[in-house]
Amino acid sequence: MSEKLYPNIINGEHVPALSGKTLALQNPATGEALGMIPLSGADDIDKAVAAARSALNGKWGRQAASARTKILFKAAELMNARAKEIAELESRNMGKPVMHVMGEVKQAIEDFEYFAGAASKVEGRVPPVHPVFFGYTLKEPVGVVGAITPWNYPIMLESWKLAPALAAGCTVVLKPSEIAPCTANILVEILHEAGCPEGTINLVHGTGESAGAALVKHPGVNKISFTGGTDTGRAIMKECANDMKRVMLELGGKSPAIVCEDANLNDAVLSSVFTIFYSAGQSCEARSRIYVHDSLYDSFVEKFVAATKQLVIGDPLDKNTHIGALAHPSRLPIMQKFIEAAKQGGGKILCGGEQLKGGIYDQGCFFAPTVIVDLPEDNLCVQEEIFGPIVVISKFISDDDALAKANGVKYGLCATLYTENMPRATKFIRGLHSGIVTLNTPATALPGLPFGGVKQSGVGREMAMDTLESYLETKTVLSGVTGKPINPFGLTLS
Ligand code: NDP
Repeated sequence: MSEKLYPNIINGEHVPALSGKTLALQNPATGEALGMIPLSGADDIDKAVAAARSALNGKWGRQAASARTKILFKAAELMNARAKEIAELESRNMGKPVMHVMGEVKQAIEDFEYFAGAASKVEGRVPPVHPVFFGYTLKEPVGVVGAITPWNYPIMLESWKLAPALAAGCTVVLKPSEIAPCTANILVEILHEAGCPEGTINLVHGTGESAGAALVKHPGVNKISFTGGTDTGRAIMKECANDMKRVMLELGGKSPAIVCEDANLNDAVLSSVFTIFYSAGQSCEARSRIYVHDSLYDSFVEKFVAATKQLVIGDPLDKNTHIGALAHPSRLPIMQKFIEAAKQGGGKILCGGEQLKGGIYDQGCFFAPTVIVDLPEDNLCVQEEIFGPIVVISKFISDDDALAKANGVKYGLCATLYTENMPRATKFIRGLHSGIVTLNTPATALPGLPFGGVKQSGVGREMAMDTLESYLETKTVLSGVTGKPINPFGLTLS
């Protein structure tokens, strides 16, 4: 057992949980002991929120925006200097190939740079309301933000929340997932080193049920920014309604890819292999349903399975690995549950469908990339987020058929379209119930472009000016400018 503790960081101090309890962490690819986190509770959250409130009332939100700009640019620079260390630790913590985490760290850095620049572009407005009044708006930080993040892209998603919240002048209490919490400590250390005053950013480790729920309930928190499962998001939204906390929810998905008969077939195959199997399918925007036009279907499936069989599954620290381990042993029975549902629904498993065994696979949680066909649209594997390396491929016969199938789930995060025909693409772009539509590319998230979903995929947008706006409140100021006496009731005073 490794004795290393990844402590809470409250008011700039590295501290254990008040209860003294800890949780041991393991590398999901090797079983190696990685250290421990404090198992914090409501009393630890109390201290962190108090520190964040005191920092909010202190200098952070009231200083010149340019000072926050400098600190956030400095944080980006420090992250760049520690990128390799962060990527290796995250890879060991949650089983993702180190080369992929490296790309995510780069994106986290770009996010800090984007919001560092944006911090000083926040402006109120002076609407021409009425000649005898001067009215204008001020933008003020929402207040203390509770950021709750998942295990699938830890440092990147933490950055998606911390960078805009800090740029807006908010202070933050971060509760990372207990499954992949290690790199949050590096991120919070970096922010202090870059110049964030004590209490501006606080880190509290622990479970969702205990530390997470206490943060959501806390009356000293003004906004919850959450990424995770739809059911957890729904519970959080209900709880936030009690005291009208602002809420941003980035939730699950069951995103479709649509391959039209005029698509470039090889590009569509290779791109679609990436959009489901990157991160072992543990992505909210994983394109886990692929709809292929009837005329291309057989060749698409044949090429897709051939490409899937070329994927290298193994040691996440090896540069050549495409798919590492699932993030936690608890994910394996979930994969098995979906495979059973596919079999019961008459689905044909063309490859994968089981946990990998033998050699290095015996030490960790590795699941074979799985391709399923011939499933009815109401099967669990078509309707529900699997969050693993399992894809369902189906046919469509017309654009309307494709749209009906793509839109026929409760989620609406990201849809990808493969076609060379722009008028047709426009019809799909307008018809898809989705927060994001991508066209002939596997890319989904770039700083500056809003990221988020419709329907049960969430509320609000990450990564863009809309995001910064969501960490601000608008204050309206109205002043009389006529210089005339004020007596709206026509009263008489001696
Ligand atoms: P959760 O939604 O349970 O967890 C996400 C975060 O919320 C974690 O930090 C978790 O803490 C915390 N949390 C859990 N319960 C509460 C609560 N009641 N109040 C406050 N915070 C809470 O995701 P799971 O890890 O359980 O995954 C379940 C499913 O969610 C996945 O199978 C996948 O379908 C989906 N998911 C989607 C993600 C996305 O990117 N949209 C990311 C992760 C999951 P902790 O883990 O420490 O208990």
